[in-house]
Amino acid sequence: MSFRGRLSLFFTIIVVVPMVAVALVLFSLTADSETGKSDARIAQALQVAIALSAQERREARQPLARVARDPELGRALASGNAAAIERRFGQLRSEQPTIAAIVLDRARGGDVRSGTRNAVAFATAAPTTTAGRRVGTLGVSVTSARRLAEQTRRQTRLDSRILIGDRVAASTLRERGTRRATDGDVDVDGVPYRGRFQAIRSSVGPTERVGVFEESRQLGESVSQSRFLIGGILLAFLLLSLVSSVFVVRALQGQVDQFLQAARRLGQGDFSRPVPIQGSDEFALLGQEFNEMAKQLEAKIEEVEGKRRELEQSIRRVGEAFAAGLDRQGIVDLAMDTAMNACAAEAGRAVPIDKRSMKASYVGEDSDRMRAAMERAEARALEGTDPVVASEANEVHALAVPLRAQLSQDEEQSNVGVLSIARSGEAFIAADRDLFAYLAGQAAVSIENADLHETVQEQAVTDTLTGLHNLRHFHETLDGEVERSRRFGTDTGLAMLDIDNFKRVNDTYGHQQGDLVLQEVAGVLRELSRDIDEPARYGGEEMVVVLPQTDLGGAELLAERMRAAIEDLVIDRLDGDGTLKVTASFGVASLPSTAAERDDLIAAADAALYKAKRSGKNRVERAEAAPAAS
Ligand code: GH3
Ligand code: MG
Ligand code: MG
Repeated sequence: MSFRGRLSLFFTIIVVVPMVAVALVLFSLTADSETGKSDARIAQALQVAIALSAQERREARQPLARVARDPELGRALASGNAAAIERRFGQLRSEQPTIAAIVLDRARGGDVRSGTRNAVAFATAAPTTTAGRRVGTLGVSVTSARRLAEQTRRQTRLDSRILIGDRVAASTLRERGTRRATDGDVDVDGVPYRGRFQAIRSSVGPTERVGVFEESRQLGESVSQSRFLIGGILLAFLLLSLVSSVFVVRALQGQVDQFLQAARRLGQGDFSRPVPIQGSDEFALLGQEFNEMAKQLEAKIEEVEGKRRELEQSIRRVGEAFAAGLDRQGIVDLAMDTAMNACAAEAGRAVPIDKRSMKASYVGEDSDRMRAAMERAEARALEGTDPVVASEANEVHALAVPLRAQLSQDEEQSNVGVLSIARSGEAFIAADRDLFAYLAGQAAVSIENADLHETVQEQAVTDTLTGLHNLRHFHETLDGEVERSRRFGTDTGLAMLDIDNFKRVNDTYGHQQGDLVLQEVAGVLRELSRDIDEPARYGGEEMVVVLPQTDLGGAELLAERMRAAIEDLVIDRLDGDGTLKVTASFGVASLPSTAAERDDLIAAADAALYKAKRSGKNRVERAEAAPAAS
């Protein structure tokens, strides 16, 4: 459910539901109150009707007094003759037209009456004969039920009905036919009325009662009116709440949206805009926390970015180190550097054990306490079996790791050196040790690779049988020397030799014996060459010696020494049957005196060699002077 949906639900629960409950209660109270009001109106109207009848009774007193004093009526009463009494009643009525009816209620002999039978509100008297005998109760009425009902209706605006005994004497209700309702609500031609009856005080004739009625519809209408009003007020209140809640929800959602957008911006790495903070409510506090969090996140990201750049640099340097041609010392130094950076070390050093592989180096703070801590760690690392040893002395922590490498196929893997780093204060953690061990391992592998690389390179330029340089290397060397001669104007000598009657050695003693002879002769060349000279195997049993900065005379001298040494060689026979001896012929040439180009130089030496062979072998011949040089 969305945030807005939840707020709306909350609003419904706290506002709409209570409001509906209040409406129900008020509606039911309204009905009660309107019923009460209607009852009160009816009761009041009834009082008015009773008061009106009392008024009429008072007004009837004067005519009654006159009737009671009438001497003729007195005689008729004394006679007890009903017809005479009735006749006198009629005469008295016509004398006093206000009288509606006159009644004599006798204890014995029946009632006598004259006038309308619907007369009500009788004033009464108890006349006696001259002899003092009571003749009954005399009643005079000046009003009719109809008049009383209409007066009541005029004054109260409510309908009324007058009952005499059980008979409906008058009614302002438009009722057709009479109904014997004597109390409570009535129904007139399908229209319901609420009503009440009360007896009118009278002491003659049957009981008179007055009833007042209000149409039930009126009660219904006023209830509806009140309910309409209450409903309207509640609805207005509901609308007001709705509008204010819409504003509140909008405002809340606006703030939530701001957080959402800010969070999205953070997700995209945009830290430029913080959440705007208004006021000091919980949202403002949340915003402050949010901005604080964003700041910390930004700082962390920058830190990580910095680390990443450092790492990138290290990787680049590692790559460059490999590209730079597997320089062993460079790789050891790089491993040290990287370890120092990554582990935040203050000093580090590399100590060689096998001096062929690496040299000593030291980086960072050079102090006694650093050295002491590293020495201690190194000693323990070299005797222990743990890959990385940590040590602590004078509050300096050190890590040391031996570099184990196999330098050639014939050797075992051994410690060629030890690397260590140190720092004061905090001890190194497991991640530092792992990284350091890894870097040292990589450095050791690189040292092995570098050795292998050197071996392969050497093999590529060495003749395997004699150990001299091969033809390819000879050409390269000679190219370099020829170039140097040309640039600096120095001489380059070349001696070329071919073993005499070598085929015969092979044929007589076997190929292996021939190989041994080649190795012995190569040994002589190596031995007699100067440091700058480059002896090489030219092919088969032919060999050459490049003689830098040597003129033709020097070359001849050197060749002669070599020739004599070969002649002096005593070579053991492989069959163990004594020794054998060999000789060699030499041709020498030099640049620029006998040749101008590399190929000319070789050709000149070759030609001189050929000449030596033809002249009887075991001798040195000089090349002819080049035409340009002569
Ligand atoms: P010359 O005095 O005229 O130089 O006579 P030669 O017998 O030395 O002449 P040739 O060039 O005909 O013989 C060279 C022989 O050297 C031929 C070949 O079998 C042999 N040979 C070439 N390379 C090797 C090698 O590596 N080992 C052995 N044992 N013999 C080789
Ligand atoms: Mg040959
Ligand atoms: Mg030969």
